[in-house]
Amino acid sequence: MSKSIQSVRGMHDVLPLESAAWQHLETVLLQLMRNYGYQEIRMPLLEKTELFSRSIGAVTDIVEKEMYTFEDRNGDSLSLRPEGTAGCVRAGIQHGLLHNQIQRLWYMGTMYRHERPQKGRYREFRQLGVEVYGLPGPDIDVEVILLSARLWQRLGLKKIRLELNCLGSAQERVAYRQALVDYFSDHIDQLDEDSRRRLQRNPLRILDSKNPSMRSLIANAPGLADYLGTESQTHFEKLLGLLQNANISYELNPRLVRGLDYYNLTVFEWISDELGAQGAVCAGGRYDGLVQQLGGSPTPAVGFAIGLERLLSLALQQGDWNDIGKPDVYVLVSGTATDGTAQLLAESLRDALPEHGIVYHCGPAGLKSQFKRADRSGAVIALIIGDDELAADQVTIKYLREQRDQVTVSRAELVKLLNEVLGTN
Ligand code: ATP
Ligand code: MG
Repeated sequence: MSKSIQSVRGMHDVLPLESAAWQHLETVLLQLMRNYGYQEIRMPLLEKTELFSRSIGAVTDIVEKEMYTFEDRNGDSLSLRPEGTAGCVRAGIQHGLLHNQIQRLWYMGTMYRHERPQKGRYREFRQLGVEVYGLPGPDIDVEVILLSARLWQRLGLKKIRLELNCLGSAQERVAYRQALVDYFSDHIDQLDEDSRRRLQRNPLRILDSKNPSMRSLIANAPGLADYLGTESQTHFEKLLGLLQNANISYELNPRLVRGLDYYNLTVFEWISDELGAQGAVCAGGRYDGLVQQLGGSPTPAVGFAIGLERLLSLALQQGDWNDIGKPDVYVLVSGTATDGTAQLLAESLRDALPEHGIVYHCGPAGLKSQFKRADRSGAVIALIIGDDELAADQVTIKYLREQRDQVTVSRAELVKLLNEVLGTN
C-alpha cells in the first residue's frame, strides 16, 4: 500500500463531529450582524502581495515572515490573505463603496499565516471581520465594541476582558517614536534580534514583542499617552465615557500597539485567560489613514477581527453545546414496513417538521441494533414502525433521553405530539 497523503502542517479539516458547532456559531454570528445592520462582503483568498506590504506594513511579523507568497504562472507576486481588512478596503475602493458613504460590513473566512503551529495558532484559521467606513467615532468605536460584547454574551462567555489603548495620530507617533528609539538604544544589549532590527525601521513594533525576556524592558519604556494631542485625548476620553455608560468594563493597556501598521486612535483587544498562551480572541481599532494610503479618498474607518477557532474553543469550554447538531428523531423499522412505507413516513415528517433532524434507518438490522444506533445518534425520540403499527396505522414513540413510558399514537396525532416534545424552532 502506498503512503497516504496528510494535510499541510497547521491546516485542519473540520470533521463532522465539529462542524455542527461551527454551524451553530455561524448562525449566531449571522443573526448578530443582521441585528446591528451590517452587510456581508466576500473577497478572494488571493490578492496581490503589494496590497499587504502597503497596508499591514513591510516591517511587521505578518509581512516579514508569515505570508504565503508565490509567483503565479505569469510571474505576478500573489499572497494568500493573512487578514481581511486590506482586501476589504481594496474591494471597497475598487467598487466605489467608500467615497462619501457609510458602510457597515462583515466577512468570514479563512486566513493564512506561516506561523509555528500550536494550540490556538494555526497556518489556516478563520476570522470574522467587521469593518465600518465613513464614521469618525467615537460612537461607532463603541458600537463595534458593544457588538463584540453582545457576541460573548450570546455565546455564554463570561471570563473575557477588554484592553484598550489610544495610538493617537501618525504625527503624534513621530515624536513618540524618537523617544522609544532613544530609550531602546540606551538598553540595546537587552534587545533580542528582532527588536534590534526594528529599532530603526519600526520601533513601536518592539512593544508588540512576545519574547518574555524583554517584558520588563518594555514595561519601563516611555508611554504614548504623554505624546497625545488634545484631539486624540478628547476622542479617547469620549470613548471611555461612552463605554462606562454602556456598562462595559475595560483595562487601559498603554503597551497595546497591535501587530499591524495601519491603526490610529482607538485600539482594543478582547482577551481570555482560559485559552493558555493564545489568549487574544478579538482585536481591532481605528484605521483612518488606510483607505487613502491604498488609493481611495480620505475615509474614517474602524474594525476588528475575531479568531474563530479560539472563540469556538472558549464557547465549547464555557457554554452548554452538548445537543448541537444531533438529530431529533430516529425512525426504526421492521417487517413489512421496510418496503418503503416507513421511509415515506419519514419523508412526510420532514414536510411537517422542516427545522428538525429526522434520520431514517437504512440497511438491514434487527430492532435491537437499530435502537443502539438511534441512541448513539443522540436523537431525542425513536419512532418504531413494525408490523403491528403498520396494521393499526400507528407509530410507537420511545423517549431516548427521558424516563417516560413509550406510547403508541395514530399517524394523525404524531406531528402534533412531536411538535410538543421537540418544540418548534
Ligand atoms: P496574536 O497576537 O495571537 O498573534 P495577532 O495580533 O497576530 O494575534 P490579528 O492579526 O489582530 O492577530 O488577528 C485577530 C485575531 O485573529 C487574533 O486576536 C486571534 O484571535 C486570531 N488569530 C491571529 N492569528 C492566528 C493564528 N495563526 N491562528 C489562529 N488564530 C489567529
Ligand atoms: Mg500574530
